[in-house]
Amino acid sequence: MSQSKILLWYRRDLRIHDHAPLDTALQQRAEIFPLYCFDPREFGEMPWGFPKTGDFRGRFLRESVTDLRKSWQQRGGDLLVRQGKPEQIIPALCQQFQIDVVYWHQEVTSEETKVEKHLKKALEQSNILVKTFWGSTLHKPEALPFSIPQVPEVFTQFRKTVEKYAEIAQPIPMPKALPSLPSNMERGEIPTLERLGLAEPTGDRRGVLNFVGGETAGLQRLDHYFWQGDRLKNYKQTRNGLLGADYSSKISPWLAHGCLSPRYIAAQVAEYETRRIANDSTYWLIFELLWRDYFRWICAKHGNKIFQPEGLQGVKIPWKQDREPFELWRTGHTGIPFVDANMRELLATGFMSNRGRQNVGSFLTKNLGLDWRMGASWFESQLIDYDVCSNWGNWNYTAGVGNDARGFRYFNIPKQAKDYDSRGDYVRHWLPELSRISGEQVHQPWLISRSELGDRHQIILGETYPEPLVDLQTSVRENERIYQKALGIEPKPYPRHQRGHKQKKSSSQRR
Ligand SMILES: Cc1cc2nc3c(=O)[nH]c(=O)nc-3n(C[C@H](O)[C@H](O)[C@H](O)COP(=O)(O)OP(=O)(O)OC[C@H]3O[C@@H](n4cnc5c(N)ncnc54)[C@H](O)[C@@H]3O)c2cc1C
Repeated sequence: MSQSKILLWYRRDLRIHDHAPLDTALQQRAEIFPLYCFDPREFGEMPWGFPKTGDFRGRFLRESVTDLRKSWQQRGGDLLVRQGKPEQIIPALCQQFQIDVVYWHQEVTSEETKVEKHLKKALEQSNILVKTFWGSTLHKPEALPFSIPQVPEVFTQFRKTVEKYAEIAQPIPMPKALPSLPSNMERGEIPTLERLGLAEPTGDRRGVLNFVGGETAGLQRLDHYFWQGDRLKNYKQTRNGLLGADYSSKISPWLAHGCLSPRYIAAQVAEYETRRIANDSTYWLIFELLWRDYFRWICAKHGNKIFQPEGLQGVKIPWKQDREPFELWRTGHTGIPFVDANMRELLATGFMSNRGRQNVGSFLTKNLGLDWRMGASWFESQLIDYDVCSNWGNWNYTAGVGNDARGFRYFNIPKQAKDYDSRGDYVRHWLPELSRISGEQVHQPWLISRSELGDRHQIILGETYPEPLVDLQTSVRENERIYQKALGIEPKPYPRHQRGHKQKKSSSQRR
């Protein structure tokens, strides 16, 4: 059927390459009305008092919408921009310009699907048709070897099945020309950060990368990581790094905003494997993208479970919600240098490595026993690459309420610090007050005598740098007992060897 006027509702798909709704509309030779709405609900406050979208992500989003508009303009069209609720703005635009049908990429989590539902209802009342597409994962639902209710609960099972039976479709190329908008149509201003209730974030030269939003910058970053820098061939060996731009791909902010399509990335990996090298590292990037997909399918399957305190597994743990220790964690003042360095990086830049995220999450839940949703909410507010499924899904796992029935697992933080920051450079990078302590000693200042700390390093624990908020071993034992009690398991006697110290990893535990 050929539609004469189609409104394309952009959300977390801010690109023109590999965009099925756009491609379908172009094939129909329709008049296309591309629209982005800055929805006030995305700039509200969260239950724990943080802005739902923090300054870093707000800026990245603005830049992404600006870049999208530029791409449309360069090809003969333009992007409409409005501020308000899509379920009110879109039906009104359809009425005004006699638009017959609205296309969009569907989402899976509750806030997003609620808006879709309201919008569909409003459009139906005006006899306007709706067509939704799936565009956020490597595979489309119809390519999966199982239905959504049958998505395997365990990642390894999911991964092995899709690797064996599902094909990743080729991405749709970028269109060369795009149709124009009626001349009498108000294009709409892209709101300033101030109008969105945000502030221009202060830059910090210590950050891993200057993340600039938009498809153009996303494609450039991929080009740099794969082709110019030739970093993909060593990705598996370097991906757990902490310092510098290129230890990992850093494509997550562009993926989260849909500036990059995962299928385009997969096609680039395939090309790299043909032209340069195919090895463990090239495979591993796809492996990681499958984790991203897995969380999305699990959200599609389980709905709101991922946001509940008892998580996917339904474990009722009596989480604490004390604000004081939480604030020390949030601002990087717990007295555990590896945790503090990571939390200060997040606070100052809106980014943190995967290794860091796992350690700070483990500390919050397994050492402090604090409600993991407080951590997930802070990440939601602060991360440039916030992705609802990846964030809440990973927090489920970190808190021990996810789908991995492996019991109480925690990170041995001093050991992690020594393994991944063996010389202490990362900690000193973010904690200038500890810069006089050389080598790996910086990870446990409390083991250095007070006189040496004072005389040699000019540090007074409790004054220039905090005393540890908790004893790492005792606190983990206490929280393990709480966890076991919640599961109705008889606590094992102590003392015992620290777990998480040298655990054998299966392929799904590799994180
Ligand atoms: C508590 C916690 C919260 C997280 N919150 C988010 C989030 O909100 N948004 C987000 O994109 N990632 C999140 N992650 C996953 C991961 O930390 C980031 O994707 C990664 O650090 C981004 O850096 P990169 O692009 O250089 O990753 P790379 O190592 O280069 O990986 C390539 C891509 O694979 C995907 N990926 C890698 N690891 C994971 C993972 N564990 N789960 C899901 N996808 C993954 C990402 O899309 C990433 O960009 C979270 C992890 C934890 C432990």
